[in-house]
Amino acid sequence: MSFKEILGQEKAVFLLKSAVRQNRVSHAYLFVGPAGVGKSAAALNFARLLFCESVSAGDVEPCDECPSCRKAAAGSHPDIQVLSPDGAFTRIDAVREACRRLSLKGFESMRKALIVSEAGTLNEESSNALLKTLEEPSAGTVIILLADSLKSVLPTIASRCQRIVFSPLKDAVLQAILLERYGMGREEARYLARLSEGCMEKALKFHKEEIFKKRDAFLEGFLQGRMPVVEGKKAQEESFDTGLFLLAGWLRDLLVAKVNDEEKNFVNADRKDDIMLAARGLKPEEIDETLRSVADTAADLRHNVNRRVAFARLNTELWKSLRKSD
Ligand SMILES: [Zn+2]
Repeated sequence: MSFKEILGQEKAVFLLKSAVRQNRVSHAYLFVGPAGVGKSAAALNFARLLFCESVSAGDVEPCDECPSCRKAAAGSHPDIQVLSPDGAFTRIDAVREACRRLSLKGFESMRKALIVSEAGTLNEESSNALLKTLEEPSAGTVIILLADSLKSVLPTIASRCQRIVFSPLKDAVLQAILLERYGMGREEARYLARLSEGCMEKALKFHKEEIFKKRDAFLEGFLQGRMPVVEGKKAQEESFDTGLFLLAGWLRDLLVAKVNDEEKNFVNADRKDDIMLAARGLKPEEIDETLRSVADTAADLRHNVNRRVAFARLNTELWKSLRKSD
């Protein structure tokens, strides 16, 4: 794995490489950006770069061959720690232990690195345990925190880190990765790149769930006035979540059709005729309202609202607004 393989994050990669090149590595970084856009890969690569015994001077990449690089690649470098959540939280005991190890002399060099893989799972207690080390790091310490959003991290933590922003992947970049690295077909890659809004993790999840195929079944039912996202029972809870994405994607297409009629912006670009037909007779604000209901339902589900209730409410609102013109 090299920085070259982290696509679409040129600015973040440039900042990290510059820090190493200019020997101005900060003691703490906060990588912020949506899941699946390359934060973890960048953090691991950055850590490898810090320990590599023969960094190539020109393009600043770890050499891949020295003992440090090999150990880092195998996940067994004694001076690189990765702290992950245990369930919903990154536990305070684990944070304390990681900080204790940071305070010790490095095994193989003067440096020690800690990657906190989901800083959003640090609760107040765990954050405070980390804060002391952030405020007074021992020499050579580099802490890299990864977070999906800035607001998931306590301001006291964030303010002590250099922020590196990772952007959602551009359509074309994500599409190229899906095509080349994952061998997907062109249509599926295009569809998933759009549906997942620049988030690689989502795209791969949808691929695994065969969403591209399911999309057709979804539309077939939906266009005939059925709400196919939760035809199943409790066992198909997951299909409800992904169904909401399908539905949101479809509604966004209807909105695009009303507002600027730009085919190239459709998620379901291969279903243009169906989109134009379905959008006929609807007002943009009606579609917008329905999209909001879908977003609200998705938010409700994240807060463990009863799925049956959430679905019933969405179903009512859906047909009320989409059929106003009948
Ligand atoms: Zn190396």
